[in-house]
This record gives sequence, C-alpha cells and structure tokens, in this order.
Amino acid sequence: MTKWLKGTVVENYRWNDRLTSLKFNAPLGQFKAGQFVRVGLEIEGDIVARPYSLVNAPGDTSLEVYFNIVSEGPLTPPLFQLQKGDDLLVAPNPAGFLTVDELPEARDLWMMATGTAIGPFLSILKGNEVWSRFEQVVLCYSVRTKEELAYADSIQEIVGLHTDQICFIPLITREQIVDTLRMRIPAAIESGDLEKRAGITISASQSHMMMCGSGDMIRDVSTVLESRGMHKHRRRKPGHYSTEKYH
Ligand SMILES: Cc1cc2nc3c(=O)[nH]c(=O)nc-3n(C[C@H](O)[C@H](O)[C@H](O)COP(=O)(O)OP(=O)(O)OC[C@H]3O[C@@H](n4cnc5c(N)ncnc54)[C@H](O)[C@@H]3O)c2cc1C
Repeated sequence: MTKWLKGTVVENYRWNDRLTSLKFNAPLGQFKAGQFVRVGLEIEGDIVARPYSLVNAPGDTSLEVYFNIVSEGPLTPPLFQLQKGDDLLVAPNPAGFLTVDELPEARDLWMMATGTAIGPFLSILKGNEVWSRFEQVVLCYSVRTKEELAYADSIQEIVGLHTDQICFIPLITREQIVDTLRMRIPAAIESGDLEKRAGITISASQSHMMMCGSGDMIRDVSTVLESRGMHKHRRRKPGHYSTEKYH
C-alpha cells in the first residue's frame, strides 16, 4: 500500500482557465530530471492520484507540476482549485525512464512535447548532464494557440544560457504566429520543415528522439521515424526514440 507523503501547496499559478502550474512542498526523496510522481487528493473518502512529471530540477526547494483541466476527469478539476496552504498527497517513489541516463549515445537530442508534456524536458534542460552528453538539442513544443505556450520565459532563459547548443521550435497548430510552425510535429518531420528549422537532419546514425505527451503524436511520429529506419529504444535493445505517453 502507498505510504502517502503530505504536501502543501506553495503556489497555484494559472496560465489561463485551463492550464496551471502547481508548486508544493513535500518530503520527497531524490528524483531524476524527467521523472514523474503520483499526486493525489482524498475525494469522498478515497484517494484519487495520477502521475505528473516534475517540472522543477532535482534539488529545487519546491516541487512543481504542470497540468490542464480534463473536465470529465476525477482529479484535475479539484486539483486545479487548490490554493496556497492547501494539502495534497504525494507518492514517495518518483519513477519513469524519460531521463538522460537512459538515453543511448547520439550526437543530437530532439525533445518533442505536446501541451503540458513540456514539463519533463524543462526539468532536464535546467540540469548540466544533457549539455555535456549531446552536441545539439532541439526542443519542439506543440500547442494549439499562442496562449498555451506556457513557460516561454523559462525556455528563453535556457536558450540564452546555451545559445550555441539549443534550437527551440514552437509549433502552434491553430494560429498563424510569426517564427512558429503551423503544423503538428509528425507533419513537420515528414515535410522536412522541422529539420530545416533546426539546421540539422534526423537520422538513425546521429539523432535520439524523445517524445512526451499525447498518444496520437507519439504514434504518428513513431511511424515517421520507423519509415526512416529508426526504432524504439529499449534497455536491452538500444534504439533511436524514447516515449512517455500522458493520455
Ligand atoms: C507517466 C505519466 C505522466 C503524466 N504527467 C502529466 C503531466 O505532467 N501533466 C499533465 O497534464 N498530465 C500528465 N499525465 C496525465 C495525468 O496523469 C492525468 O491523466 C490527467 O491529469 C487527467 O487526470 P484526471 O484524473 O482529471 O482524468 P483521468 O481519469 O486521468 O483521465 C480522464 C480521460 O482524459 C484523458 N486525458 C488524460 N490527460 C489528458 C490531457 N492532458 N488532455 C486531454 N485528455 C486527457 C484520459 O486518457 C482519459 O480518457 C501523465 C500521465 C502519465 C501516464
């Protein structure tokens, strides 16, 4: 049985009426950048908990998760309402393999996120390991509207620190915004637009691809990559792409 840790909300930062970043304190032990933790609430006598990627870097004082309201879901509507000082529950065992130490050797690292799945990549990019392991990092962040492009300032800060090594590519599917691609990630790979924007090519010999977020994106990108001779990475059988599906 899970021995839940008690967490206390420090801040509930709402990006809009659907997206929020919840910062909280909890006596969680060590975790690796890119991992997730189960966060829960007691609802009508039962504990309802779901996995959430940690956005903060290991060692930061507070923990942070970034999520959207799923109106038909049991947890996100009440989680969205939490305020400073409120309690929540945190499972003691962070987990997940979307971490730098699980990646095979490659020259370039591509990080592809849909919506709230930008979180684990931010945690990774705040650390040092990724910058010493890879020559180039390409961060692809797909959202529907410009308003949904949360953490833009944090991303600019990271870009400013690693200008020569990182390329940030925002993809905004429902609006025409200057300096962004108006297409989904799989289409942008297939058309060559993503590589053109990054200035490097995607190939089995030099790229590793990380994907996080919607099952549709992961399925469609995987299909495109497989057609280029790239395969899913497994501990026992090293490959070219790693995935974490949120829904
Ligand atoms: C390893 C892992 C890490 C995750 N990390 C995050 C995270 O950092 N941020 C985050 O927002 N979510 C994350 N999720 C999804 C999260 O755990 C919940 O499923 C989500 O927040 C909805 O919770 P809920 O209880 O309200 O609804 P649920 O009962 O979990 O889901 C209700 C329905 O909504 C679908 N759904 C779930 N999430 C979404 C979504 N974001 N958009 C549209 N439909 C959805 C489900 O597939 C299901 O059909 C993660 C999932 C996994 C497996």
